[in-house]
Parts: sequence; C-alpha cells; structure tokens
Amino acid sequence: MITFHEVNKFYGNFQVLTGINLHVKPGEVVVVLGPSGSGKSTMLRCINRLEETSSGQLTVNGVRVDDRKTDLNKLRRNIGMVFQHFNLYPHKKVIDNITLAPIKALGVSKSEAHQTAMHYLEKVGIADKAQSYPSQLSGGQQQRVAIARGLAMKPQIMLFDEPTSALDPEMVGEVLDVMKTLAREGMTMVVVTHEMGFAREVADRVVFMDQGKIIEEAPPEQFFSAP
Ligand code: ADP
Ligand code: ADP
Repeated sequence: MITFHEVNKFYGNFQVLTGINLHVKPGEVVVVLGPSGSGKSTMLRCINRLEETSSGQLTVNGVRVDDRKTDLNKLRRNIGMVFQHFNLYPHKKVIDNITLAPIKALGVSKSEAHQTAMHYLEKVGIADKAQSYPSQLSGGQQQRVAIARGLAMKPQIMLFDEPTSALDPEMVGEVLDVMKTLAREGMTMVVVTHEMGFAREVADRVVFMDQGKIIEEAPPEQFFSAP
C-alpha cells in the first residue's frame, strides 16, 4: 500500500533521509521509533507529500507520490493525518471542523457530512462535544476530534505524527485507545511515537530510525527482545 524504494531527501546539503526502503501492507500498523531529529516526521510527511523526496521511488496505492504530475488532492484524500498539535480551526465548532473537508473536497452534502461526522465523533467518544469550540475541550478530546476529522474523509491510510506528545499524561491513554481500535479494525497506519507500550502492543512492525536511516525493522516481540 505504501512503498519507499531507495528514497533520499536533502534539505540543502543536509541529508535528512538516506536510502529508505519500506513496504507497508494493507491493514498493517507500522510504528516508527527513533531519537529526535532522526527523520521520522520527514519520512511520514513524504507519504502525503507534505515534504518532497529528492530521489528514489515512493508509491501509495500504485500512485507515484514522487511524480510531480500526481494529483495531490486525490492522493491526500486517501490519507488521513494526525499531527502532534491538533491543528483544529479554533473559530469553528467541533462538528464544523469535521464536515469542512468532506463538503469542500469530496462534495458531500451538508446533511450527509453531518451524519458522518457524528458517527466518527461517537466512535472517538465525544459526540456530546459536537457543538463546542476546540478551546473548550481538553487536549485529549481535541486530538480525538482531529482523528475523527481524518476518518471522516474515509481514508485508506492514517498517518500519526507523535499524536500524544503534546498531551498531559492523563490524556494519552484515551487517544491511544482510539488508535488501538482503529488498528484492530484493520486500518493501515504509520505511527511516529515515543509510546513503547503502544508499539509493543499494537504494531505489526517496528521501524527504528537513526540519522535518516532505517537501522532496524522487526515485529515488536523481536524488536523488544534482548539480542
Ligand atoms: P524527527 O521526526 O525524527 O524528530 P525530523 O524529520 O523532524 O526528525 O527532522 C530530521 C532532521 O531534519 C532534523 O535534524 C531537523 O532539524 C531537520 N529538518 C526538518 N525539517 C527541516 C527543514 N524544513 N529544513 C531543514 N532541516 C529540517
Ligand atoms: P512538530 O514538533 O509540531 O512536529 P517541528 O518542530 O518538528 O514540529 O517542526 C515544525 C516545522 O519546522 C516543520 O515544518 C519542520 O519541517 C520545520 N523544521 C524543523 N526543523 C527545521 C530546521 N532545522 N530548519 C528548518 N525548518 C525546520
């Protein structure tokens, strides 16, 4: 579903990704671990071309992401993304944060978008907050809105970039629980996180990066076992 083949990326003279090879199968949950600055976020952001690769091939669902001619809107419709900072529109109610993209990008009717949004708000456990503004919600609740917003586009892939790193510790669990449910339901997920428990419990595969390279790739039971 996602294939990196010998992908390199430079910022000027600085090589941030070196020879990345990675294959993510449908329904797989890949957790990316590694020290700060090792290129995890950059690798993730290449998948929906928030960052451009410098060389190599990157394919999502058979479509070349590294091809300049690829329709970005079409590509991104299939890929939901959840960031560390929730990136909700502060001046819009929770429900409108979620319906905006389906209405604008997919041309879904208002009533259908509303119905879909409520479905996903229920799924992440905060349907009662539909009429609130983001600032009236806790960080954990805001992040669950962000997940619902991603899901409302009915993507085939969800990308998570340190989704719990900006949360107070007591809110981390509620966000990870939603992610665990998605994983169990067969969503294809790539997750950059420092949550080892999540990696151990939910990942099909753990990828460890250092200095722009994948230096280890293994199922969690193997990754976390003593050498
Ligand atoms: P991680 O997610 O593992 O913390 P990043 O992918 O965010 O790592 O960053 C990898 C490296 O690339 C870091 O050294 C970072 O400072 C650098 N970097 C990230 N974005 C840019 C940019 N836009 N321009 C230059 N350097 C960048
Ligand atoms: P977050 O913590 O929300 O992931 P970051 O601090 O990693 O955000 O990066 C914020 C933005 O700054 C990103 O767009 C990233 O590409 C850019 N960035 C990160 N490191 C550098 C750098 N060394 N030089 C230029 N831009 C950078």
